[in-house]
Amino acid sequence: MALLVQEYLDRIRAEHADAADGALADYIPELARVDPAGFGVSLSSSDGFVYESGDAGVEFTIQSISKAFTYALALDRIGEVAVDARIGVEPSGEAFNEISVDETTRMPKNPMINAGAIAAVSLIPAGSADERFALIHDFYSACAGRRLDLDVDVYESEKATGSRNRAIAYMLQSFGVLDDDPDEVLDVYYRQCSLRVTTTDLARMAATLARGGSNPMTGRRVTTSAVVKRTLSVMVTCGMYDAAGDWVSAVGMPAKSGVGGGIVAVLPGQLGIGVYSPLLDDKGNSVRGVRLCRSLSEQLGLHFLAVSRESRAAMRAVYEPLEGVRVYETHGDLSFCGAEQVVRTVDREMRGFDVVILDVSRVDDIDDAARGLLSGMSKILRAQGKTGYVVDPGGIMTDTEAESDGVRFRTVDDAVAAASSR
Ligand code: GLU
Repeated sequence: MALLVQEYLDRIRAEHADAADGALADYIPELARVDPAGFGVSLSSSDGFVYESGDAGVEFTIQSISKAFTYALALDRIGEVAVDARIGVEPSGEAFNEISVDETTRMPKNPMINAGAIAAVSLIPAGSADERFALIHDFYSACAGRRLDLDVDVYESEKATGSRNRAIAYMLQSFGVLDDDPDEVLDVYYRQCSLRVTTTDLARMAATLARGGSNPMTGRRVTTSAVVKRTLSVMVTCGMYDAAGDWVSAVGMPAKSGVGGGIVAVLPGQLGIGVYSPLLDDKGNSVRGVRLCRSLSEQLGLHFLAVSRESRAAMRAVYEPLEGVRVYETHGDLSFCGAEQVVRTVDREMRGFDVVILDVSRVDDIDDAARGLLSGMSKILRAQGKTGYVVDPGGIMTDTEAESDGVRFRTVDDAVAAASSR
């Protein structure tokens, strides 16, 4: 069966294999030494199964893709409020290495341009540059599910030619954004950019974000879903240099690219994609990488704003095992919209029953909004002289009041028996 997906991937990759436009990044001399023909893609499902096509085993430097992960680590370590006090979240519309800050706040406009990325490095709490790099290195490796290596040649090449980044770091220091020594912060930044990844590493890192912060391959929770939410938000608006608008329209996935030729793309809750092809367009994005992602999105229906159908109905069945007793059977993941549907249906049909049994035994997951709405429902029912029972063998509703009322049952049969002996 896996072959079917593999064929899709090979075919879509083959559609773009012959394109040779674009140019290698050469502002860091070492970057221009890679094979321009390299072209690979990996796709990880949210449960960690990886499909690969083309040069999925070729290592290249992560470059600016690192920015998304260091930002996530900064959020994880010091929290959103402290990070927001130093780095904005507005798209800049400028080149990634623009020597600029926001005119009013005097902070970097976002963490996906160099100014914001350098600031993000400085926010990782550590006693030394080595310790800071170790934390970053560990974090990326935990997301990838293997220990990543440093490309020492690229690191040294980047350090030797980094005048522009030095200008940015010293500017940040003068505006009070950087507390630490700019050269030490930059040294860590160059090292993070020079970590080597394959497209499969990127797909796994993306899948870790797609899973809300836990690595589907290792099962390890790397960060929280709140951190992931913020990171993905900034990737949507600022991840593709100043081509973010085109990317969101055509591909529609939070993503980040790097001048090494890599792109990481995330379909939240579903999958992670890693792509590599080092020939870049004039914005700095991989030419074939962007085209491939566009085709994947179109042909596999991956655009995160595609509304192909109503969100999956929360209600699985409604039936009356006894006169005046109605069972509402729910399933899937219950969030606000699903719970709203249940509450409205019960409200509309309230005249037709005396006892309502809400069966949540087939619900996979429920969030606080849905839990709040559904437990509020039992109070309203009571106020209307009706009786509400919940069938919740897994205890996913965890509503203490309902528990003390003794209205929770393990099976629908138990609830029906209680209703008939009222
Ligand atoms: N190391 C690169 C720099 O700071 C990262 C550039 C990129 O991938 O956009 O110039």
